[in-house]
Amino acid sequence: MTDPTPPTAPTLAFTGVAQGLRTDYCGELRVADVGRTVSVAGWVARRREHGEHLAFIDLRDRTGIVQCVVDGAADLRSEYVVRITGVVRHRPEGTVNAGLGTGEVEVGDCTVEVLSVAEPPPFPLDDRREVDENLRLRHRYLDLRRDRMQRNLLARSKVNSAIRTAVERQGFVEVETPMLIASTPEGARDFIVPSRLSPGSFYALPQSPQLFKQLAMVGGLDRYYQIARCLRDEDLRADRQFEFMQLDLEASFVGQEEVLGFISEAVVAAVAAVTGEPPPEIGRMTWLEAQERFGSDKPDVRFGLELVELTEVFAATEFNAFKAPCVKGIRVPGAAADFGRNKLDDLTAQAKRWGAKGLVWMKVEAGGVLASPVAKFLSEAEQAALVTALDAAEGDLLLIVADERPKVWHVLGLLRLELGRPPVNEGGFTFLWVVDFPLFEALDDEGNPVPAHHPFTMPHDDDVELLARAQGEEYLQVRSQAYDLVLNGWELGSGSVRIHRPDIQQQVFSLLGIGPEEAQAKFGFLLDAFRYGAPPHAGFAFGIDRLVALLVGEENIREVIAYPKTQSGADPLTGAPTPVDPAQLTELGLRILPPPTPPS
Ligand code: ASP
Repeated sequence: MTDPTPPTAPTLAFTGVAQGLRTDYCGELRVADVGRTVSVAGWVARRREHGEHLAFIDLRDRTGIVQCVVDGAADLRSEYVVRITGVVRHRPEGTVNAGLGTGEVEVGDCTVEVLSVAEPPPFPLDDRREVDENLRLRHRYLDLRRDRMQRNLLARSKVNSAIRTAVERQGFVEVETPMLIASTPEGARDFIVPSRLSPGSFYALPQSPQLFKQLAMVGGLDRYYQIARCLRDEDLRADRQFEFMQLDLEASFVGQEEVLGFISEAVVAAVAAVTGEPPPEIGRMTWLEAQERFGSDKPDVRFGLELVELTEVFAATEFNAFKAPCVKGIRVPGAAADFGRNKLDDLTAQAKRWGAKGLVWMKVEAGGVLASPVAKFLSEAEQAALVTALDAAEGDLLLIVADERPKVWHVLGLLRLELGRPPVNEGGFTFLWVVDFPLFEALDDEGNPVPAHHPFTMPHDDDVELLARAQGEEYLQVRSQAYDLVLNGWELGSGSVRIHRPDIQQQVFSLLGIGPEEAQAKFGFLLDAFRYGAPPHAGFAFGIDRLVALLVGEENIREVIAYPKTQSGADPLTGAPTPVDPAQLTELGLRILPPPTPPS
């Protein structure tokens, strides 16, 4: 090899990044650029004519807007794609726009080249007005030009990048897993894909890479991660889409502590990437404590209004409504005056909709006297003990629910959110680990326990014996080695230490009512793999859509997804889902049944 090719001189000396048709990005021009001849390219955001001889063009690209002054009439309309070459200069005095990054400068002596013409957009792209979401999604390519979407998708890209760097720093390797698979065990409805080569058989789209990441551990990959697409055919809501992205992770020879550490580092990096500063230290709470204090397994710990135990206070009560296995209350400081009869009736109706038999309210008056329609049914000692337990003072509103314990948690937990929850990202980003989840969340109609996580979750070390001898309701006391990550009251993700021993796995399957044949048919390949030396392993997955939404202050995850579906699962952009060609159906061996006739 002689004469190595000399390095190409950068054509664009100033920014070092701009290439192609431009020298600079619109939003990056500053006073320091005054005097330079630049080319910028983008969309005409706004055009103002000053007489016949002067036009002001606001040119927009991904980085923002710059004002370009064009001599002579420019036949330009909104959203035309143009390249403008001119000289950067100070804006004349009195015309500086402090609200704009480029507000001190403008590009003058411009020549304009039209690269593409544009029809008038069906909605304004300036973020100043709320636009119907269907319209936005139908023309998502236009919607994406708006500041809000640009900002959100850029933040998303930063989050992905920070997460990758953080987990790779900890030794994780990215492994891709297939999209066409057999069903996975996350418990939602699968999307299924017919097989042309095996008519009558179907693939499922992965609800998560769960089984493959566990197999990767048997395969000796040691630390796996993937920013994985997961698909679940569930009803859509503000925080749920058919397809969503999660950081999926699994590691061998580690337990809960290490996994919590891996994930903490990743989310801290993600927050710092978007906000510029790391979040406060991540706290930890057991599932039971979360339920007892906040009435939720995803407690929003940014505010108080905690649930206070009152069962003992009313242990010997004469008041029928409080003769229940559990009585708890919350104190809303200083709220007595704000809650008139109508509001209290509404709150009671609300509590009943959530499943309570009723809601007892009391207002604290001077001297700790309780004003309430039910005060007369409580003894003086009970009233005094109640005031002490709730630490109540004059002007407070007390709300009390008595019922089965889980019902009390549920109702007071929701009431607490209703009364005190701050906006999604107010007060920064408060993460919380919730650990020691129960292994089972309920019993089904046949009395089989229903897993709270997926069936590969290891029981808690201290509860193995309990699991072996448990009967009926006792199952609900068995804890697992499953943990969740919560952010500002949103469940961000979950994971667990896995069962790596075939004998314990068999035991859990049989408890879940999954017989050996069903287990073999559904997860046979995993059980087979475990026969060949499975390392102890544990993992986690958290939703990236939710995380990004919270970081940029959006309530709805559709705002942080480039091409989301509507609430009804439709994609107004492409028209999906659509019928397919009859020939395609024939090839797949499928026939569409007529829709069932509604009963007359
Ligand atoms: N596969 C689980 C999920 O997607 C997370 C995990 O256990 O790693 O929810």
